[in-house]
Formats: sequence, structure tokens, C-alpha cells
Amino acid sequence: MMTCHALLLLGMTPHLFDSHLHTPLCNHAVGHPREYAQAALDRGLAGVTFTDHIPMPEWFDAPWRMRRDQLGEYVQMVREAQQEFGGRLEVRLGLEADFHPGTERYVAEILAEYPWDYVIGSVHYIGAWGFDNPEFVSEYERRDLGALYRHYYALIEGAARSNLFDSIGHLDLPKKFGHLDQGGMSALHALDVIAMQGLSLDFNTAGWRKPVREAYPAPDLVRAAAARGIPFVLGSDAHAPAEVGYHFADAVKQIHDVGGTVVTYAGRERVGG
Ligand SMILES: [Zn+2]
Ligand SMILES: [Zn+2]
Repeated sequence: MMTCHALLLLGMTPHLFDSHLHTPLCNHAVGHPREYAQAALDRGLAGVTFTDHIPMPEWFDAPWRMRRDQLGEYVQMVREAQQEFGGRLEVRLGLEADFHPGTERYVAEILAEYPWDYVIGSVHYIGAWGFDNPEFVSEYERRDLGALYRHYYALIEGAARSNLFDSIGHLDLPKKFGHLDQGGMSALHALDVIAMQGLSLDFNTAGWRKPVREAYPAPDLVRAAAARGIPFVLGSDAHAPAEVGYHFADAVKQIHDVGGTVVTYAGRERVGG
């Protein structure tokens, strides 16, 4: 009988879910949910949770997400995949929601519309600046990095306190293009709030495909989160079927090495861990 770790060393991923997947409805991903599900099966995953970008008020970041009138189509697509893969792969319905102060009520309305399994809360904007958009990367040169991270983590704390989300998405996202946090105190404070609020962290392997070449969160933050009892939800943040389950064996090793736990969500309740 092979242990879980032995299977991982062979590149297999028993019992794992990929809980951060997009669909073409967000206008910057490719592949039908059926193709993502098939990719998950091929990689030996137990399940997937689709978490496409939530609709937001029309003035917010409209080109990068589904319109509100497409939400039903999104739910329908995921349910079709659920039926098609029934008995072979568990398919769950989620969202990657944005935390942007002032939009909480709008987000709450969307979250009340369907029975979601899992909702990630992500910060992609500091003020009007989409700081993870490669088009606007030169803005970093005009910013004080310390102030930027303090501002960012204050937003993360707002997300954690909003009671809207199950987990925090890609915790240290401003490092995406290599602008690393030199201090780290505001990140640790945010982790205290995340732990207090009983949230999980999206262990987001997409960072390994970005210029920073490091998953979100950074190893030090993974250790600090595990020490606070914060569980991790594995996610590839796939915007194409080939990215499903990306580097999951490395992710699980990193989490287990610091005594962390891996969980999933169903019906907005934590499963496992
Ligand atoms: Zn996206
Ligand atoms: Zn995101």
C-alpha cells in the first residue's frame, strides 16, 4: 500500500481538489468546464471547484469578468459538468469574489442568488490600480513598496472581516512581478485576523508560473499561517485546462512540511483537515 506521500512523489495527487478554476465567461480564460474536469480526471484529482470571477458593479473592472446577466449561464455550465462527471469526479460550484470597499452589498446579493460551495475573497485593486495586471506594472516604480503592502494588507483584513468569504485568495499577490514585501509585519497581522475570523487560505500555485516563481503565499507565510491553525485550499488558478492541478505535489509537500492542513469546501462548509 503506497502512502499519500509516495503517490505524490510519483506525480499523482490522491484525494485532492483543485479549488480555483476559471471559465471563458471571464473573457480571459479558455476551455469549457468539461475540459477542465477532464484534465482533473487525467491528473488523478478527486474533484474540482469552479471559482470564476464574480460579476461586479458595471463600473468595476468589467472587461475581466462575466456580466451579471451571465451568472445563470455560469451556474448552468458547472451543473452540466457536475452531471457529466458524476461518479468519476466531484464538481463543485464556487466564485472568486473581489473585495473592494463599497461593493460589499453588491457581492452579498450575488452570493445570496445561488447555493455556492466555496467563495474566495481576493483583492486585485489598490484604489483604481489593478496591481496584478501586467499592463500597469510600471506603476510599481512610482510606489513606496512598504506603503503599498501596508495598504494591501489593510484591504485583506477588510476582506477577512467582511464575513463574505470562505478563504483569502493569493495572499501576497503584489509580489507577482517580483516586488517582494521587505517588511512582513502587515502580512503577519493580516494572518492574525484571518485566523480569528476562521478563514482558510487559497494555496495558489499560479505564482510558480509568474515572474516571481513562487506560489502564493510565500513559504514563510505558509509556515506562519500553519502556526496559527489556518488551513489551506489548493488552487491552480487555471485559466486554461492544461493548468489544472499545476504543481500540486510541491504544494502539498510545502504545506505538510510545516504541519499545515489541506481542506476543501462544500455548501460553504469546511471539509477535511
Ligand atoms: Zn482571472
Ligand atoms: Zn485572483
